[in-house]
Amino acid sequence: MIRRRPNGSLRIKGTSVTAASIDLGGTNLRWAVVDGAGKVQYHRRLPRPREAEAIVVAIRTAITECRDHSPDLVGVGISVAGIITERGITSTNLDWHEFPLVVALAQGDLPVVVINDMAAGALGELDFGRARGLSNVIYLTISTGVGAGIIVDGEVYRGANGMAGEVGHMVVDLNGLLCSCGRRGCWEMIASGTAHHRRIREAYASGTWPNLNHEPTPAEVTERAREGDRAARALVMRTARYVGIGVSNLANLYDPQAVIFTGGFARNNWDLIRDYLKNEVREQSFSQNVQLLLTALGDDAGILGAASLVFRQREKAAACGGGS
Ligand SMILES: [Zn+2]
Repeated sequence: MIRRRPNGSLRIKGTSVTAASIDLGGTNLRWAVVDGAGKVQYHRRLPRPREAEAIVVAIRTAITECRDHSPDLVGVGISVAGIITERGITSTNLDWHEFPLVVALAQGDLPVVVINDMAAGALGELDFGRARGLSNVIYLTISTGVGAGIIVDGEVYRGANGMAGEVGHMVVDLNGLLCSCGRRGCWEMIASGTAHHRRIREAYASGTWPNLNHEPTPAEVTERAREGDRAARALVMRTARYVGIGVSNLANLYDPQAVIFTGGFARNNWDLIRDYLKNEVREQSFSQNVQLLLTALGDDAGILGAASLVFRQREKAAACGGGS
């Protein structure tokens, strides 16, 4: 049963509708049953197999398990770090080049959709998290790398080749460090958690904390910054400054209502960097009212977003078929 939402889109009525959601991550395979209200009803994880064939078998088993838990599943959503096109999935994490996962799964009547992990996180926040009620949003991870899921006018913006959102590879320093993509000065070379950790190591090696008998972890530096250690605070704020430069660029490019932050660096340091980032973006971009928010969904954003894609595609099919 469907009804029209005030903004003109459609929503399956009630929360009894469920989807299987699978997150094909760098180390783990997670699967869950998610209902139409974004509630995770069932959740499991295992170390991810390495080979493609074993991954396909593990996903089939996960889908069967989800179906046992919720026999009326309306579809399967799979979130994966990679470039998704109609030809298949290209992922350096998985060592796949255009691997046709949907074809390999062949789940009969159950529709299977695949979505990039950052796009999934963005959809999760849009439908069930911090971005509810908004329509132009950037979901930004400041983690090992830097990446984004981009929502334009209420839909995931994929770009012509499914590559939109590779914001970590914006060049911000022509003479900067060499990146894995082959260019110099990519944003993630200075603004990622990896870059932050590198600067901590360099600071320790240069004698910043002479009384410390071990190299502090990023978590220890955060703790020290909270306690008033000036060197630790300077390191956190330096990374925040680099983050702010890129966010200002994104604000100028996309004019979003909100940027939703996730990833280890952002999540662990949010109380220290939030106000600074807000000021920085206000001063460095044309946008005066972009909201900077921390994820409400944490590690579940992708799982919820992949399910959300299943629900959205079903709504669209119902809207076309029903001719309302
Ligand atoms: Zn790069």
